[in-house]
Amino acid sequence: MKEFSGLCASEGYALGKAFIYRHDTIVVSHGKIGPDEVEKELKSLSDAFSTVIGEKKEALEHAVNEEEKALYTVEILMLEDPEYRSSIERLIMDSRYNASFAIEEATGDIVDTLNSSEDEYFRERILDIRDIERNLLETVTGKKRTCMVLSKPSIIVSDNILTSELISFKGYSNLLGIAIDAGGRTSHVAILAKNRGIPMIVGLENFSLSVSEGQIVALDAYKGKAYSELNKKASLFFESRIDRMRTESEILKTSIRNRDRKTFTKDGHRLILEANIEDLRGLEDAIGSGCEGIGLFRTEFISLKKEKYPKEEDRAKVYCTAASRIKDIGGYVTFRTLDVGGDKKGDEFEIPEENPILGWRAVRYCLGNPEVFSSQIRSILRASRSGNVRIMFPLISGIEDLDACMEIFEKEKEAFRKEGVPFDEEIEVGTMIEVPSAAITSDILAKKVDFFSVGTNDLVQYLMAVDRGNERVQSLYRPYHPAVIRIISEVIGNAHAEGVRVGICGQLASDLEAIPLLVGLGFDELSVSPHSLLFARSLIEDLDSADCRKLANNVLSMRSYVEIEKAIKEFNDERETRNKK
Ligand code: PEP
Ligand code: MG
Repeated sequence: MKEFSGLCASEGYALGKAFIYRHDTIVVSHGKIGPDEVEKELKSLSDAFSTVIGEKKEALEHAVNEEEKALYTVEILMLEDPEYRSSIERLIMDSRYNASFAIEEATGDIVDTLNSSEDEYFRERILDIRDIERNLLETVTGKKRTCMVLSKPSIIVSDNILTSELISFKGYSNLLGIAIDAGGRTSHVAILAKNRGIPMIVGLENFSLSVSEGQIVALDAYKGKAYSELNKKASLFFESRIDRMRTESEILKTSIRNRDRKTFTKDGHRLILEANIEDLRGLEDAIGSGCEGIGLFRTEFISLKKEKYPKEEDRAKVYCTAASRIKDIGGYVTFRTLDVGGDKKGDEFEIPEENPILGWRAVRYCLGNPEVFSSQIRSILRASRSGNVRIMFPLISGIEDLDACMEIFEKEKEAFRKEGVPFDEEIEVGTMIEVPSAAITSDILAKKVDFFSVGTNDLVQYLMAVDRGNERVQSLYRPYHPAVIRIISEVIGNAHAEGVRVGICGQLASDLEAIPLLVGLGFDELSVSPHSLLFARSLIEDLDSADCRKLANNVLSMRSYVEIEKAIKEFNDERETRNKK
């Protein structure tokens, strides 16, 4: 049995066949061909069509549900459309493009036409045609490739995978786990896996090179270990752990369903336990897991799936559905305005920059594109009449950013008043605290908002000067560094002095071992991944708030992250020992 070490990004166990996915980008040569090469390029194109159609038909046979069947059927129809194929052939014969260049050009024309369509259905087909394009390109360029379809239960094993690639996979219900060579624990692709309860290990270095397609692999995503060439005993171990995990989660879910959603510590200290989501599916998971509200709706993910940012009304429909669903349970949704850029790459918002993490991200992008920003604000305002809605601005670095966002927000509210469009006049406004300059000036920001939400994923990245997605420096990414804990404590103090509530929506809140410290530091709201919610809640109900405060006070006087980690571990070990007695 071979063992590989990485970092746990989303806890759980997984056992299954490896699905190898290589994040190679296909470089298309834009060269022209000579008259004697036309025949060869046409043959290569014809072979590619036959191969891809064959694969799609096979995938159709193995489709697990009607939705998947419909997807493959549409793709086969597109591939068999004589107009698509002959437009590529014409480019080869008349314009003397090589086959891959011709595929790219002809597909680009179709995408442009679909993009300009008023019909949502046609715009949604862009992803399908791009998928086909990739399949054809991979075949004509002779690149080793894997089709992005999970037709059987599998574990994705990859060198690296982008968020937009992961959400484009088909057959998502067959995804058992993810193991990647690159990446950090708080990269967005890791967050996506965590929010969906998919076990994931990152930073495995060269695991993907040591495993072949279809080989059985196992993930212990509590310890950050991946295994191949498993022996019988190990396979049985993983099978029994996976069974136990399912049963425990079912028991917790059943108990939650029958109870009030409010969360209190053992001594009656109230905490609001919310969820982080990316879409309406996540919303249902969160409600099913007993959340009290949505502390972070990462609205940008809806648009990463599409090549064109959804229109105002389409977006408003999704927001309204979220708002009214959450109203049913008496909670609220916190819509974070577009946080594009950084490591979140989507076709429409692909911003080529030397240093995207410090670049044109989030509100910086929105303030530079006021029409995009205003349009999103209007969608949020529309949704505010369907339920309790809060709006939150990401990557604020100081009062100037906040004022600029508020000015646009107020302008749109005024426009709605004049137009007679109803919205919630009491809509709460908050800011994320994830840039050190915002944290340090949080006393000033607190005078202007209703709530703060601390984004530790970025706050740690910027405080420690460590790229959250780079596996090489993950050991330096230290959420328990005294600088992080002190600054968080200061933010909470500044907020409370102004009567402003403070939540945390960074991944740290989903880390069960960190929760006693977060409670002790004085957070009012914890927003966690839907799959951590049940466990977070049962943990909080077992905590004594005075003990947590004591832990936080001790930690605040410590000199190093090693000491802090040790203190947290001792606290958790003691509690567990007490419970076992
Ligand atoms: C954060 O930075 O902690 C956060 C919640 O935002 P994101 O992870 O989407 O950058
Ligand atoms: Mg962030």
